Amino acid sequence: MREVTVGSVPIDRLASLLEPERARRLAEQAAQARELLQGRVVWNVNATATGGGVAEMLQALLDYAHGAGVDTRWLVLTGTPDFFRLTKRLHNLLHGSPGDGGPLGDEERRVYDDMLATNAAALHKWVSPGDIVLLHDPQTAGLVSDLAEADVHAVWRCHVGRDTSNEQTDLAWDFLRPYVEKAEASIYSRAEYAPEWVDRDRLWVIPPSLDPFSAKNRDLTDAEVDAALRQAGIMDLPSDGGSLKFVRRDGSSGTLRHHEGMMVSGGPLPGDARYVLQVSRWDRLKDMAGVMKGFADVVDDLPEDVHLVLAGPEVAGVSDDPEGAEILEECLALWRDQPEATQRRLHLCSVPMDDTDENAHIINALQQRASVVVQKSLVEGFGLTVTEPMWKARPVVASRIGGIQDQIQHGENGLLLDDPYDLESFGRILVELLADPDRAQQIGTAARERVRDRFLGDRHLLQYVDLFARLLEQD
Ligand code: UDP
Repeated sequence: MREVTVGSVPIDRLASLLEPERARRLAEQAAQARELLQGRVVWNVNATATGGGVAEMLQALLDYAHGAGVDTRWLVLTGTPDFFRLTKRLHNLLHGSPGDGGPLGDEERRVYDDMLATNAAALHKWVSPGDIVLLHDPQTAGLVSDLAEADVHAVWRCHVGRDTSNEQTDLAWDFLRPYVEKAEASIYSRAEYAPEWVDRDRLWVIPPSLDPFSAKNRDLTDAEVDAALRQAGIMDLPSDGGSLKFVRRDGSSGTLRHHEGMMVSGGPLPGDARYVLQVSRWDRLKDMAGVMKGFADVVDDLPEDVHLVLAGPEVAGVSDDPEGAEILEECLALWRDQPEATQRRLHLCSVPMDDTDENAHIINALQQRASVVVQKSLVEGFGLTVTEPMWKARPVVASRIGGIQDQIQHGENGLLLDDPYDLESFGRILVELLADPDRAQQIGTAARERVRDRFLGDRHLLQYVDLFARLLEQD
């Protein structure tokens, strides 16, 4: 187990984007949180410091909590490849998908319990009685009882889920139930994700949020966007002197490096190209391959300047995601099967993860320049990759599943694809949207307001304060 450094960002920064009444409430709640949590630490434990939505959200939210005067810390657990294979299986099963099809028997429980016993021993060096520990996702559920025995408030938060249960979700929940049931509270991104045996008094629904000031979401000038995409080798853009500097999470500045080989296929895009973008981990349930097929099927009906970019993290960079290399390879095989003229319009982009701020800046630039952003996931817990382009006023086309439905109101601030397997409708929506820039712009403008309204950190932090107040009522 290791500690990740948490920065400190004044909460006023968020307030600058809010209506005065909302800003006033935020300041009030920050003061309440300081008082309530005085002398205690709020710990977060998850499986990775980089890659994926949980890490993304912790990076942003904890800095604000710290800035508001709450002692918040972040620990990442240690796992063996066997452990992460098993927890990836649990992750897939919770999404209703068999994943690698492996078992969840006594041997798997032993692997899980042993790994978490090792982590629990390390955790005791940090945590004190009376502290609150937020355990994120299946990788950490097995720490609950150990913490509870040490008089620590143990809360489990589940970021994944499926709207309706099936055989697979039941299997995963049977495995996790003995741990989750002992938590003082459990949190889900949607009410539908909680299994029916969770005590309703201890169930909280808290959707994720986005940080508008992070390297991932900060407003960039057109020149900054172009400089980033040129320097990263994603687009053939003329050098116009745009700055190669980017702002890091801690406020310092970094300089973009040139990345040879980031375009795994299709080469850099021409400088005047428009593009459709999906950003995701290389995970089967994100269906990058389906996006490529759907796009390739309508490529002749799309304007010639429209390309597709599928961007994800360099596969070696996400330690708790063993599936990545395989999925990227499958996408590459599909690309090789396309006619040459289509290949030139399809770009697989593997973004280095060794500098997460630089990665975030590149993803930000990609999202800000995209004509349309898609998220054609087959299952999605929430989908920050939907929230992020919405905040950037991009028109988003995404599957009508999971947390995506809480974000996009179809036709108003995005477009929902009823059946994520329906490639024909997917292609048709793309063709129509790209032919109607006014509508695309209208949808994008409304999307930013939707995020401001529902998915900024103030709402998220206030929900946490309510939860903590309830937990500490008895102390
Ligand atoms: N992401 C990233 N770099 C990449 C690919 C993804 O920073 O190369 C980020 C993405 O911008 C988003 C997060 O990873 O913030 C993915 O979160 P989401 O909720 O969409 O899905 P998850 O990966 O948690 O299933």
